[in-house]
Amino acid sequence: MSSNVVHETHSETVQSGRPIDRPRRPAWIEIDLKQLRRNYEVINREKTKGLKLLLVVKDEAYGHGGLKVAKAALEAGVEFLSLSNLDEAMALRGGGIDTRILLLGERQDEELPWCVAQNLTCCVDSQEVVLKLGKLAEKVGRPVPVHLKINTGMNRYGVRWTEALALVEFILSTKSLQFEGVLSHFAMSDELDKTFANLQLERFKMVLAELADKSIHVKYRHICNSGGFLDLPQAHFDMVRIGLLQYGVYPSQVCRRIPGIAPVMSVKARIAAFQNIEAEDVVGYGMRYKAPSPRRIGVIPIGYGDGYPRIRNEGYVLIRGRRAPLVGGVAMDAIMVDVTDVPEAQLWEEIVLMGRQGDEEISVHDVARWKNSVSYDILTGWRARLPRIYLS
Ligand SMILES: *Cc1c(COP(=O)(O)O)cnc(C)c1O
Repeated sequence: MSSNVVHETHSETVQSGRPIDRPRRPAWIEIDLKQLRRNYEVINREKTKGLKLLLVVKDEAYGHGGLKVAKAALEAGVEFLSLSNLDEAMALRGGGIDTRILLLGERQDEELPWCVAQNLTCCVDSQEVVLKLGKLAEKVGRPVPVHLKINTGMNRYGVRWTEALALVEFILSTKSLQFEGVLSHFAMSDELDKTFANLQLERFKMVLAELADKSIHVKYRHICNSGGFLDLPQAHFDMVRIGLLQYGVYPSQVCRRIPGIAPVMSVKARIAAFQNIEAEDVVGYGMRYKAPSPRRIGVIPIGYGDGYPRIRNEGYVLIRGRRAPLVGGVAMDAIMVDVTDVPEAQLWEEIVLMGRQGDEEISVHDVARWKNSVSYDILTGWRARLPRIYLS
């Protein structure tokens, strides 16, 4: 196997600012922009025609690279992008993204002038924020759109559903603001039991009915995340907020599948060393693995310092499409794997830590299981020191 497969077979761009002639670290993340675009096509084909898309690209697009993903999302015809803080929004604006951006969560007072100046749309859930935004909007002399965040039971952000109508009336009385959207957020939308999701939906619809009673029109009514988009078509309204699904990962094992959706991110490395060990020899810090028989150990130059889960004698990597189990614990910069059953394995050949190789796959959910966590945490948990390679 060639030692520079990636260079030869794919056009690549490197995000890290590394000069193009300096050798790349033998451990990296691959982001398949072609697959990302295919996922957008599939989602666009799947959704009903008038349904608007808001793509959630917070936390560097779930670790895939905020600006790269935002650009692909714009080509896919997205209505809104969404982020969770001002720094993320400024990074996209600085990168030339001038589409609508909805900022999730709460804003500190000092952030509001920036939001108005940068055309960032805020969620509002209190009279205080409405007043402050209203004053700023008066000064700039153009109507500033806002989305009302309703708490229907998750009890994170938002005005309680029973108090929503009063706040809407307050927004409408603030002439410098434009009441553009209402949203809520599901606490559990991707499991088989939809009881609580349906209760939240009923509360949301109660508010919508109150607005309709008063002939108050809202352009964007949105409550669905990826799980809701997949499993709660009755909750789509005007727009859905899709995060995880665009990256080709499903929010749970039980939610509906859409053919054609596939993961965008893989994690790869090269074998940096071999050790031929005898029965009773141990491997790694703490001597956590003792060989039952002579074994060949491969050393992979990636560790918990890169975001690899700190597991021990559990999990595996793919070498030549076969599973090589981890032996011992994960160090900051290295893991050791048993390559005895892959005798052809060569020094510096490419192996897969997350993603496909041959007929085998290590899914984001597999890694999440090893870490006792969820797919969201795995995607966003890879550290910046791992270079991101973009395949386009
Ligand atoms: C992160 C987030 C989403 C996206 O959720 P996914 O499950 O990744 O689709 C949607 N809405 C809000 C309010 C969020 O915070």
